[in-house]
Amino acid sequence: MGKEAKKSRLTMPPAEGVLLHACCAPCSAAIVEWQMAHEIRPVIYYYNPNIYPREEYEKRRDESRRHAEKLGLEWIEGEYDHEKWKAAVAGHEGDPERGDRCQLCFNMRMIASAEMAKKTGRGCIATTLASSRWKRQDQIDKAGEMAQKLTGVEYWGQNWRIEGLTERRAALLRENGFYNQLYCGCEYSMRGVEEKGKKDNEGKKEGEKEGEKEGE
Ligand code: SF4
Repeated sequence: MGKEAKKSRLTMPPAEGVLLHACCAPCSAAIVEWQMAHEIRPVIYYYNPNIYPREEYEKRRDESRRHAEKLGLEWIEGEYDHEKWKAAVAGHEGDPERGDRCQLCFNMRMIASAEMAKKTGRGCIATTLASSRWKRQDQIDKAGEMAQKLTGVEYWGQNWRIEGLTERRAALLRENGFYNQLYCGCEYSMRGVEEKGKKDNEGKKEGEKEGEKEGE
């Protein structure tokens, strides 16, 4: 006798019309796949003024657009104003990753996403930031909830690392041949990668871990 299907621990969106803030294609793929399997067709909103330099921003943007086009999903690009982003995190340049700078960075992206959802008539927002083990879920949720309070657009907070989605992320990354970044996004997050690179060159060569690098 077959066992009863396991109930998903992921919940359905709190309102009609999902705007999915996407940080990059690798982090989006499994989440979008799950949503589409549940008859949700999100509009993808690429709003990431944190990414530096511009060439890196464009690389990630083009991959995100390619991903959406392949699935026939609507895709919107937000404004790339890196100076505005720098002003928003001013005074926190030296903070470690997962510290206060990241909270401010998430706040800015979630508020803009909720504003775009409101402008385009979507009832809720979600974000692919929450798929990365490099990010703090509590910080992302705090930013989403703040955006909800400010705009009235519901925040669909989920732990997108469960229900096999982390493994699926790695598989879809390989299948699609996505560009997979080596650092989170801003210039301050490049430091750790540069230091690590030096150590790797000097010391033992570790095999590259498949599926997730530093990328958001
Ligand atoms: S490390 Fe990543 S999340 Fe933190 S401020 Fe930089 S780009 Fe934003």
